[in-house]
Amino acid sequence: MSDGSGDDFERTIVFGESAIERIKAYRHPAYPRIYEVWYTYATCYNPLLNQAINDVLKKRGSLSEQDLDALYDMHLSASRFPTRYDEVGTKIREEVDHMVAMLDKARGSADEYSTTLDSINKTIEDADKDKIKAIVEMLMRATIDMRSTNGELEDQLITSREEMLKLHDKLEAIRAESLTDPLTLLSNRKFFDMALEKALSDGKPFSLLVTDIDHFKSFNDKYGHLTGDQVLRLVATAVKQNVKGQDIAARYGGEEFAIILPGTTLRPAVTVADHIRRAVMGKELVKRSTGENLGRVTISIGVASFHSNDNAATIIERADMCLYAAKRAGRNRVVCETDPEVQNTGANRVA
Ligand code: GH3
Ligand code: MG
Ligand code: MG
Repeated sequence: MSDGSGDDFERTIVFGESAIERIKAYRHPAYPRIYEVWYTYATCYNPLLNQAINDVLKKRGSLSEQDLDALYDMHLSASRFPTRYDEVGTKIREEVDHMVAMLDKARGSADEYSTTLDSINKTIEDADKDKIKAIVEMLMRATIDMRSTNGELEDQLITSREEMLKLHDKLEAIRAESLTDPLTLLSNRKFFDMALEKALSDGKPFSLLVTDIDHFKSFNDKYGHLTGDQVLRLVATAVKQNVKGQDIAARYGGEEFAIILPGTTLRPAVTVADHIRRAVMGKELVKRSTGENLGRVTISIGVASFHSNDNAATIIERADMCLYAAKRAGRNRVVCETDPEVQNTGANRVA
């Protein structure tokens, strides 16, 4: 799996230039965070940010520096997850305090009610008819009061419960966002690393697929990186359509995807890999902006299965060796760790 390449200059300068153009057009100060907003906008990697910018532009035709600051805090700031966690955390604490206060109040009125009953109990022993009537009235009043306090408490508990459920959903959304790749909406590398560690510690059979797009560099050179990004989405879709609920599909690096197939041994994993490979091959690429037909892309896939002494590095390395063998054998193919072409390949990387 690659860790960056020399053509990053070509790829990124376009985004940088676009960011500077926007800064000039809107006459914003070229502070790093403002640059980062426009740079990210140009890449389209963060669809939520782009949508937020487009919404403001649609409404007001331009963006102020304050708008950009707010967008940065919301979508890009490295501390946005902790900040949002804190906000949700504070709200939960407030809700809990509120519930505790309500329960205190309820206990107070229950105490009062039982004191009333006690005193009635004492008076009733030597009571005449009129007194009994007065006592019954008093009892009824106390009961009505108690019922209304209980009703109030119940309403507030229902509201608190709804509030807590909303906060819970918000926390889930923040967590999911922090583990998702914004371009493909597959899981990101962080989630993959955690899932792989979990699969290894479970110790049950599973397989690992590693995919890499064939000759992607020349595709990017020919059609541009934004179109290249469309290809990444297409491959991600092909992956999604061919895995099941418990499988974990992640964008591992730039143009590489890694898929964990729990409970799947080598042969069935090769079949899944081949379905993905065929699905990618079967899609015709049409450039969105012009309708131009760009032909097809292919991918190569390496497949390894869990060995009892594996750690993350060893199983990734085996899948990677298979991927390398698939590239060497001519690309657009699936190679697994028991295939003869994997032997004697060494660890040199091509992809
Ligand atoms: P092969 O894998 O078949 O050996 O050839 P390749 O040309 O695909 O080689 P390699 O896998 O080393 O190429 C990686 C290229 O992927 C470099 C870069 O152009 C492209 N790439 C990496 N990340 C991204 C990305 O996020 N978007 C786009 N558009 N291209 C990317
Ligand atoms: Mg490649
Ligand atoms: Mg690669």
